[in-house]
Amino acid sequence: MVEIPAGCLDDDPGIRPMRHIFAASRAPWYDISDNLPRVDAYPPGNDSPVIDWPDRRSKKPGILHGSCLCGAVEYEVSTPIRVTRNCHCSRCRKARAAAHTTNGFTETAGLTFTRGDELVRNYKVPDARTFTHSFCGKCGGALLNPRSDRSFVAIPLGSLDDDPGVKAVDHIFTDYKAVWFDISDDLPQLPEGPDQSPAALFKDG
Ligand SMILES: [Zn+2]
Repeated sequence: MVEIPAGCLDDDPGIRPMRHIFAASRAPWYDISDNLPRVDAYPPGNDSPVIDWPDRRSKKPGILHGSCLCGAVEYEVSTPIRVTRNCHCSRCRKARAAAHTTNGFTETAGLTFTRGDELVRNYKVPDARTFTHSFCGKCGGALLNPRSDRSFVAIPLGSLDDDPGVKAVDHIFTDYKAVWFDISDDLPQLPEGPDQSPAALFKDG
């Protein structure tokens, strides 16, 4: 058996998600809004052991902690997340090998790597103006790319260890969404993306 991350597929696999597993461990910023069955750990019949996940949450009030999968890279966020969006563009889907990404935008000045920043790898899509996929060179876990020439940074919310206290406000680039993924919530859907880039919220705008 092999597990294929559906986000890697370029064609319609002809099958749709059938249940949510590990629903009890889902991100605090993510609401399950469809009617698929949910189980809190492995699906019935799978008795694989569940390994405890280390508690990496911030011990500093007002500071959000984030990290990659292996924990070699850690970062802190000291500024508020101004807006959070679910992005369904092809680049985001490929970068995450998932239905979409959920990014929160905050000030570059609020972002500090506290560990392992030398492990962060940045892949800029050659024909993109700015789109860059950042990840840990050891485990591949998605990270972020604070640039000194840009006032804001996109945080993949899945890399956060803390509850940012915000949720996505819309779905963008839905004309490009994965065929196997149905949007089941009531958030606005912007087929070709938002009118304004995130820069408009920050001093770049
Ligand atoms: Zn890592």
